[in-house]
Amino acid sequence: VTTLPDTSPWKSVHAPRPLGLSPRQRDVLILLVMVALVFTVTSRMDLFERFARFSEAHDAWQLDELIWLPILFAVAGLIFAWRQSRALIRELMGRKEAEERVRAMALHDPLTGLANRRKLQEALSLAVPARKERSEVTVLLAIDLDRFKPINDSHGHGVGDRLLKEVADRLTAVAREGELVARMGGDEFALLLPVAESADAATRPARRIIQALEAPFRIDNIVCQIGASIGIACASEANFDPEALIQRADVALYRSKSEGRGQFRFFEEEMDGHIRRRALLEQQFSQALAQGAIRPHYQPLVELATGRLKGFEILARWTHAEEGVISPEVFIPIAEDTGLIGELSLKLLREACVEAAGWDPPLTLSVNVSPVQLRDSRLPERFMQVMTETGFDPRRLEVEITENTLVADFPGAKRILTALKSHGVQIALDDFGTGYSSLHHLRELPFDKLKIDRSFILSMEESEESRKIVGAIIGLGHSLGLTTLAEGIETAARARELVDLGCDMGQGYYYGRPAADADAFRDGGETSVQGAA
Ligand SMILES: [Mg+2]
Repeated sequence: VTTLPDTSPWKSVHAPRPLGLSPRQRDVLILLVMVALVFTVTSRMDLFERFARFSEAHDAWQLDELIWLPILFAVAGLIFAWRQSRALIRELMGRKEAEERVRAMALHDPLTGLANRRKLQEALSLAVPARKERSEVTVLLAIDLDRFKPINDSHGHGVGDRLLKEVADRLTAVAREGELVARMGGDEFALLLPVAESADAATRPARRIIQALEAPFRIDNIVCQIGASIGIACASEANFDPEALIQRADVALYRSKSEGRGQFRFFEEEMDGHIRRRALLEQQFSQALAQGAIRPHYQPLVELATGRLKGFEILARWTHAEEGVISPEVFIPIAEDTGLIGELSLKLLREACVEAAGWDPPLTLSVNVSPVQLRDSRLPERFMQVMTETGFDPRRLEVEITENTLVADFPGAKRILTALKSHGVQIALDDFGTGYSSLHHLRELPFDKLKIDRSFILSMEESEESRKIVGAIIGLGHSLGLTTLAEGIETAARARELVDLGCDMGQGYYYGRPAADADAFRDGGETSVQGAA
């Protein structure tokens, strides 16, 4: 009874039975048939009379006492049969219970007790028969927790598991009768409305779930602030594919997450292609990184007044086997989401340092550091290790961070940048003018360079305003003792104008697009990239 069937656990319940009888009924039937058979044979052959006559004829043998023997055997046999059938019934009940337990286990998540993916699929396939009106729809909400992973990482799985249980409780509280809450795995949940009046009916539970999970959780003495993103998919047709509906809700969820957390989105047809592509790239990303398909490209940084090459900004380029070159705008978010941004950055840095270590003159290398990387307190050590391994002088390294990076965790960013600075690394504030930085940041952090965002430089031609802003930023930079660099220079005229405004350095298509081969620009080192502006 205790051994669990290795195939589908409930199969045996529905296994066909001979003649449609239970084992007990079959046994009774066999008994009756045998009794009838014995009765027929004995009466046909007048066995009792023959025996009586024989017994009378041989009175001395006391044969009439023998008649008790079969009677005693029959009674004992009946008792035995009754006990056997009791045992059989018990065993059958036990087996049925075990089968039901296995079935329940197969359809429920052991941690939260919620339905699992399989149960949800079952419920989805039963959803259509439950719909009565033609306008009714089946709605599926895919729910994903925001900021769950950091809690799991920093407080351990024990806290993570208890948090998931509490999330399950809150979701169950939101669900109404007839609705099904399921755990799809990890920190993903789902809510099924088998019969809803319309797609709009899904916004009610979506709002309530977001609200319910936004409220802080308290586990022991740890206050956990999470949240939820939701994707919604609806099916109105009678023969919809449950698996496709789950996938559509996932696609909508994906979009909802990428557009900022704590929101819900309905599935739209056009999302499909876009999300599919991103999901595919996400799958391929780690392999591409391991196989060296993502390599550093070099864009020249030039001294404006002389046009002399001073260094390169390292930019990642992914050369995809089928799609060609993929833009960093596409794959950097993937690297950040998959947690591989740190690895990518160090790999590119190492490659570039190996290439640049022996250059004469010793040009600089500038690397972009993402907000995600600045959360890693060991970042300075990792960078210095690459410097040591490759023999690249840290004083030739420049780290570029954007203003928005600073907003997330200013003290953390300050610690890391100060540590890098103590090793001689230069710090540049990237894309200045587009983010949320304040003068406070400029004063508090050890910056060496201000990179003026390309949008200002590109609009200088038609906008007097932009020209004034650029002039003001250059003045501000100089007054704080910072080097200024203009991004996005595309013409000689623009370069001259920037020299007139007092800008120190420049970068842009006029001086060179990012290229895989730095030597194309270096050409012995002393040669300028473009004639002096
Ligand atoms: Mg940059």
